[in-house]
Amino acid sequence: LQIEAEDRAIGAFLTLSGDQAMSEARALDEKLAGREPGTSTMPLLGLPMAIKDNICTAGIPTTAGSKVLQGYVPSYDATAVARLRAAGAVLVGKTNLDEFGMGSTTESSGYHVTRNPRDLSRSPGGSSGGSAAAVASGMVLAALGTDTGGSIRQPASWTGTVGLKPTYGRVSRHGLLAYGSSTDVIGPLTGTVMDSARLLSALAGADPLHDATTSLAPAAEDYVSAVKEAETRGERPLAGTRIGLIRETLQTRVEDGVSTVVQDAVARLEGLGAEIMEVSIPYLDAHCASYYVNVLSEASANLARYDGVRYGLRPRDAGSAKTVMLGSRGEGFGEEVKQRILLGTFSLSAGYADAYYLKSQQLRSVLSEAFKSAFETADVLISPTAPTVAYPLGKAAGSKVDMYADDLFTVPASLAGLPAISLPVGKAPSSSASSDFLPVGLQIIGQRFAEASILQVARILE
Ligand code: GLN
Repeated sequence: LQIEAEDRAIGAFLTLSGDQAMSEARALDEKLAGREPGTSTMPLLGLPMAIKDNICTAGIPTTAGSKVLQGYVPSYDATAVARLRAAGAVLVGKTNLDEFGMGSTTESSGYHVTRNPRDLSRSPGGSSGGSAAAVASGMVLAALGTDTGGSIRQPASWTGTVGLKPTYGRVSRHGLLAYGSSTDVIGPLTGTVMDSARLLSALAGADPLHDATTSLAPAAEDYVSAVKEAETRGERPLAGTRIGLIRETLQTRVEDGVSTVVQDAVARLEGLGAEIMEVSIPYLDAHCASYYVNVLSEASANLARYDGVRYGLRPRDAGSAKTVMLGSRGEGFGEEVKQRILLGTFSLSAGYADAYYLKSQQLRSVLSEAFKSAFETADVLISPTAPTVAYPLGKAAGSKVDMYADDLFTVPASLAGLPAISLPVGKAPSSSASSDFLPVGLQIIGQRFAEASILQVARILE
């Protein structure tokens, strides 16, 4: 397989499922034999795709990047995967990630690191770094990622790809191995905005039997037609669109080079007819801290199921039930995951829950109010996706708290459940080695279920 050779330098994949892919493709050929070319009703017919390895695929190993799930082969497809297959997509493999989605560089995978195809000495971002790298290198045309606090958008920004986090409840989470259930969302990483719309059209929709948090109303839209409409607009395609630049994002942590690229993008939006204004989402730092309290609390409960009894790793000479559990969790989970389980358990424990967990929930409603008033004056909001360009490999290990703090532009849309897309808008020099220029993403945030609007703005700016 050609991908196998190409991936040696990058390490985007954990599993390549070439044989299954070939037989799926052949089955599609047989099914469609005799038809006129171009008359299939399958919108993604033959599209080679990769799936992040925390999403279940029937008959193909699914590890969530964790040793604790080594050898686990799901008996069912996640709803998102089933929908892509039904639309004709062909799955070529499963991509690397930070264990259970916990990280921003893909370096805390239990298996290997993934390199950024734009600069092999750098990280592709995370936690969907394998998916982003697979798309950025051209090994696949599209991939599924998951985003709990930025894990689709930030890797898209660092690799120069398009990453869309849909509204919470727009895409079913059935078959997604949970990290933070109240903000986990599945979405596409692609090379273009139109491909993002194509995938979302296949993915979106209610799944009442499997994920009761998916929304019945408003119904999913035809995102492809929405993007096509944007393509046919005349001279000033954004006339009448009010775009709110989140003021605080150009004041906190952001690198100069990133800020310059984003300001250029703002000028282009204005030239396209948009009305630009500044809006305020105060306390970004506090929301980032509160995100970590919230998500780790949820993770500590979600990860309790990996006990070595039902699936995955089990120590060989385990005697009692207790030693099975201690052994499989002790050997199976990596350092980052263990630390996060401890932190989450602590913030939920008696005597501390009011000071930490409850406080984070209160901040979450403060944030929703801030978004509500921002959307009274603006139709969509914009910011840099991330304050920096791609980190050099190894940097995150030396400054973990900085890595957490660098999530501050992506976590607000997660906590509020809003749709957000990251679109490449230029390149900035890296602060460490001034000679190379690296991709910078612009984040566009919409109101709940307004995926069509953010895709349209993104397409026009693309
Ligand atoms: N970097 C963030 C975290 O570690 C976001 C991860 C994600 O969205 N899965 O929690």
